[in-house]
Parts: sequence; C-alpha cells; structure tokens
Amino acid sequence: MTRLRMTIVGSLLLLAASSATIAQDGWVPLFDGQTLKGWRAGENQSSFRVADASIAADGPRAHLFYMGEGQTAEFKNFEFMAEIMTKPGANSGIYFHTEFQGEGFPAKGFEAQIDNTAGPLAGYLELKKTGSLYGIRNQYKAIVGDDQWFTMYIAVRGKRIAIRVNDVLLVDYVEPADPVVPSDGKGRRIATGTFALQCHDPGSKVFFRNLRVRRLHDEVSESDAPVVVDEVYRQIIELGSANFPLIDFHVHLKGGLTLEEALAGSRRLGINYGIAVNCGLGFPINDDKGIAQFLESMRGQPVFVGMQAEGREWVRLFSPEAVARFDYVFTDAMTFTNKNGRRMRLWIPDEVEVGDKQEFMDILVERIVGIMDNEPIDIYVNPTVLPETIAAEYDSLWTPERMKKVIDAAARNGVAIEINNRYRLPSAAFIRNAKKSGVKFTIGTNNAGSDLGRIEYALQMVRECGLTWENMWMPKPDGQKPIQKRGFK
Ligand SMILES: [Zn+2]
Repeated sequence: MTRLRMTIVGSLLLLAASSATIAQDGWVPLFDGQTLKGWRAGENQSSFRVADASIAADGPRAHLFYMGEGQTAEFKNFEFMAEIMTKPGANSGIYFHTEFQGEGFPAKGFEAQIDNTAGPLAGYLELKKTGSLYGIRNQYKAIVGDDQWFTMYIAVRGKRIAIRVNDVLLVDYVEPADPVVPSDGKGRRIATGTFALQCHDPGSKVFFRNLRVRRLHDEVSESDAPVVVDEVYRQIIELGSANFPLIDFHVHLKGGLTLEEALAGSRRLGINYGIAVNCGLGFPINDDKGIAQFLESMRGQPVFVGMQAEGREWVRLFSPEAVARFDYVFTDAMTFTNKNGRRMRLWIPDEVEVGDKQEFMDILVERIVGIMDNEPIDIYVNPTVLPETIAAEYDSLWTPERMKKVIDAAARNGVAIEINNRYRLPSAAFIRNAKKSGVKFTIGTNNAGSDLGRIEYALQMVRECGLTWENMWMPKPDGQKPIQKRGFK
C-alpha cells in the first residue's frame, strides 16, 4: 500500500519536472505576439503580417503553416484555441492535421471554416459559415458577427472532432471506420499534422491572436457506438461538400423534442435545423410579446428561427417589426374557408367538405395563389397537400394547369416551396416544373413527434430532380425579408 503510494507520488513528481518548460495546464502558445517565428507561408508571404499583437491575413491567397521551433509540429490528439476577428465579407479558415504546401488550398487535413458574411465570388456563394468542419459538417447560420473577437476551439480526440465557437458546440463529428470523403477532399481524414491559417482572397481580411495548443494523449479514444454509413449518410457528405444547404427549416419543438436533443441530432446527422413556432389565432403565440419571449429562448443558439403563420388571420395579429425578427416566415394552405363559409383544416377529416373534387381543387389552387399574392411569406410549406379522402388521386387532381398557377404565383412573389418529408410532397413532376420556373426550394419535415428522421424524401427529390445549392433558398438578410419589402396588405 505504502510502496504503491510512494511510486505514484514519485511518478507525478517526475511528470511535473519534465513538463516544467510548458505552462502548467499544458497549453503552449503558437504565436509570440510580435513575430511570425515558427510560421511559414506557402505562397504570397506578404499576405500575412503582425499587427496589434495579432496575425493579420490580408492579401492574395496564401496559407500560413505552423512549422514549430526545433520540436516537431506534428499533432494528433489536441485542443487548439484562437481568438479571431473578421472584417465584413471575409472568408478564411484554420486547417489542422495538414502539412506545408507550396501553393494552392491545403490538400491534407481539415478546415475549420471562418465566414460570417462572405458574399458572392465569381458566381459562387459560400454557404458554410464560421465553425463548419468544411464540407463535412457544416454550420449554415453565422452565430458570430464581423468586427468583434470571438473564440474558436478545435479538438481531435481519437476519431472525434469537436469545434466550438464562443463556447457553443457546433461540430461533434465521429469519423467512421471507413470514412466517406468528398470527391475533392481525399485528404480529409483524421491523421496527424500541423495547423495553417488561411488568407482566402484579397477581399478577405481576418485577424488571429492568442493561438495556443494543448497536446492530448494518443491513447485518448471515444467509446461511442460506431457510425452507421449508409446511402443517406453518403449523400449528406456529398451534398455538404458541394455547398448544398442541408437545413431542415420545418422543425417544431413538440412531441417531447427539446432544443438540446435537436442540436445533438443535428451534430450527429450533419443536418442544420430551423426551429419554427406556430403563431396565429388559437395558437400559443398570438401577439408581439409572445414572439419576443420565443426569440429570447432561442438567442445565441446555432439554429435558424422561423415563424409558422397560422390561418389567414395572422396578418392582423403581429407588427411587421416583430415578424422581421425571425429568420423567415412560412405558412401553408391547409387552413382556409370555402365558398360556403366553412373554415376547414385539411388534416382534420371532420372539418373537411370536399364535395365536387374538381371544384374543390380549383378553390384550393385559388386559395394557395391568394396566400402567395397577399401574405408576406418566405416559404410555402406542406405544399400541395390534399385531404385524406382524395389524397390517392394526387397525380390526376394536380393537373399541369393547376401546378402552373401555383408555381407562377411562387415565382412572381419570390416565395420558396418546401420539399416536405412528412407528406412526401410535392411530387417530382411539380418540383421539376417549379425548378424550370426558377422557384427556389427549402427542405422541411414538420415533425409530428420527437423523431425528425433524416430528410429522406428531400434527399430523394434532390437526386431525382437534379437540385443543386443554386436551386435552394436561404434566409434573406435584414432589410430584404418579404415582411420588410412587402409588408401587410
Ligand atoms: Zn409546421
């Protein structure tokens, strides 16, 4: 007993002595605050300089690699921290597990993305925001802004990569035994390597400071269940690396689903969420105060927040200013009043009065078009849903003429159409026609319970209809939202 204790104490003393040269907590600075000692640019060396105790990236494309000083700059399991500040429109990143490269974008390792407000560049609009594990696990909503310092934390533990921005966990990626790597990213595999800072292009100005790293023991491993790699998993990686926004904008915190569970699922699957709340007559939120309370509960969270406008009365209940605080507004045409003055909710069989099918369809189409022409919405959701009694006749009732009326209304009002996973609608024929007319799409599940699934129907339609990131809708910036441009009639 005593001998054993003495041995342990002795080992601890030895360990302490051998670590005397590094900080007690194991963190080692990678930048001295004054020079670029230990760093080497692959090309365009003048793109990096020291300014105000930070490394400034400002100039033509270049990557600044950490080469170390005497000791090897080879890291396997580690924690890395940096403080970062972007100027408006900047695109940048921090590579890890990479190696020195004379020119071009680093082929080896991963990039932790930095991009809060980058705009279009040569016909390409980067959708992957700060904190993305570039192309593999993407964050589509920027949770930090320009001109302010934020922290980025990157950790590799065994097969697991974590990325935090201002302490918010955005990425928790577990590499499968046989990793799926994007076709243009053969080197995106957990291995060993060093760090590199990116200067993406002359329009991207970024500052880095307090760069530091702490090595973790090689034997660190995670005991999670192995990742199941199937077709859905593969398609998510392929699309994510092709800039396709993997966002389910129609998630409700209901059926026991909590925000924490939704976020954990989001990190596991690589799908971002838009949390939507039902607002309208007879719904939990029916005034500006309710909106303010809901938005407060979502503040700082790595999700989009949406308003599901209910019924046709919502336009009288809220101020445009309160509505504009959401990232987006959507509605469906499942609640409307027919010619006999009957208010119907199409999902409640007892309320629905179909009567003559053709006449019902014409009224439904008229109502959908009216909603798009009169209500300042971003997205038409649960699109083309029919009451249960006639749902089986979807293909014959949704004639080309009826589809065209709805698609034309969406196109002229700039309303996006949801590809809905719960109803598995609209049909591929409808999506192809809408795509031809330049209508944009979103993905939405409209979960009934706590299980969000894996956007399977949308993934199938993306494949069948050949949708790319350019066909997909993204939330409009402040000042450009329909509620701000169109207002209430
Ligand atoms: Zn909904």
